Amino acid sequence: MIPVQGMQGRSAFVLGMGRSGLIAAQALVAGGAHVLCWDDGEAGLARADEAGLTCADPLRGGLENIDVMIISPGIPHLYPAPHPAVAEALRLGIPLDNDIGLFFRSFATEDWNSFDLAPKVVAVTGSNGKSTTSALIHHLLDVAGKRSQLAGNIGRGVLGLDPAEDGDVIVLELSSYQTELARSLTPDIAVFTNLSPDHLDRHAGYGGYFAAKRRLFSEGSPDHAVVGVDEPEGQYLATQYADYANDDRVIRVISGQKPKGNGWQVTARKGFLSESRKGRQSASIDLRDIAGLRGAHNHQNACAAYAVLRTLNVAPRVIEEGLRSFPGLPHRSQMVCEIGEVRFVNDSKATNVDAAAKALNSFENIRWICGGLQKDGGMAGLSSSLENVEKAYVIGREAEAFAMQLAVDCEICTSMKAAVAAAYAQSAPGDVILLAPAAASFDQYDSFEARGEDFIALVAALAAA
Ligand code: ADP
Repeated sequence: MIPVQGMQGRSAFVLGMGRSGLIAAQALVAGGAHVLCWDDGEAGLARADEAGLTCADPLRGGLENIDVMIISPGIPHLYPAPHPAVAEALRLGIPLDNDIGLFFRSFATEDWNSFDLAPKVVAVTGSNGKSTTSALIHHLLDVAGKRSQLAGNIGRGVLGLDPAEDGDVIVLELSSYQTELARSLTPDIAVFTNLSPDHLDRHAGYGGYFAAKRRLFSEGSPDHAVVGVDEPEGQYLATQYADYANDDRVIRVISGQKPKGNGWQVTARKGFLSESRKGRQSASIDLRDIAGLRGAHNHQNACAAYAVLRTLNVAPRVIEEGLRSFPGLPHRSQMVCEIGEVRFVNDSKATNVDAAAKALNSFENIRWICGGLQKDGGMAGLSSSLENVEKAYVIGREAEAFAMQLAVDCEICTSMKAAVAAAYAQSAPGDVILLAPAAASFDQYDSFEARGEDFIALVAALAAA
């Protein structure tokens, strides 16, 4: 645990007793703060109680004399409307922060004075590919023999990390909710993967969503910025961060195009990663047969992770070894099994349109299981990715409305069980049955993981039959 610094004798209110909130409250206590907690659910209150924390209702006097409110990422602090407890804190003029802000203020300690190499923080944000890129960086560091810890939106809550040792690298996956609220945001290396519509309700639209992610680059001025520049927002971010053209502090990640100009760039094109700097190509890696990094979207993630390792002076040969041994993450283009030359792929994490489009671009002869809780932003982003789809099998409570927006042959299945059965019954050798919902799971499941596990269990039953 990382005890929170600068809060000794002061009062903090922690809202939300999930994974990150609970450890934030404990880290505040360890740092000498007076801490009160709250959660709207009985289970959260019970977790706090079990951890020996004191709970107080924020709407019944719990916010009196509070110096700061720490908010969990799932709780809206502004849009579509502030949570009532946050609204009360705002009315009382209480500053808002989150565990990420506390982490950046507490991470460096006096022990660092005796270190040969100061610990570094890599922070990854973007719409899609954050988890894969963060896990890949962590894996590559491991292969390169550098001690690293992974936290944030993936793995542990940041304040649950072990205090850093000499030369450590911390890898943080940060969502837009987290970057928007943190009062301190000072990574050494900041990564922006890409931008496409998601969570627009929480940011009052696309501009607000981008602004939340941009804070990672504008607040703490990282030593290096690794920026995916396939969209105008990434291009803008890269030019805004750079002091002059070809500023070496920026590494641009480019998909499907040759490097341009003399800046530092890592490109993925036709299955090959290449690095160029000062107009010269310095490395090339064949990514095509790496099972854990299938598809152009994962090649983009490979480039971003590669770039981070290069800023840490790891040799291309060592990075290549790590890319080859990366196992991939579950629920992201995960190969489940093959039954009679029909492959089953679980990409339950494709909760938005862009992620689903990328999955559809990665395979041919697809029987596509999609549907669920639709997000703002529409389905237009899918239109150019439907070429490889033989037929869609639509799940979710609103399956009919979902199907009406798809310009492909559709079958309304509603349940995962019916979808898997129909897709398999109609499949031919060489087909891929792909779960890539392009929607959130909450209408039928507790999480995208539960949805993916259901798919895997149904496929296992088919295999055993
Ligand atoms: P995040 O943590 O940003 O949600 P994940 O690595 O968990 O990212 O991937 C989320 C979804 O996006 C998965 O469906 C995955 O297959 C897809 N995906 C992964 N990387 C990319 C990328 N670079 N661009 C677009 N989609 C991606």
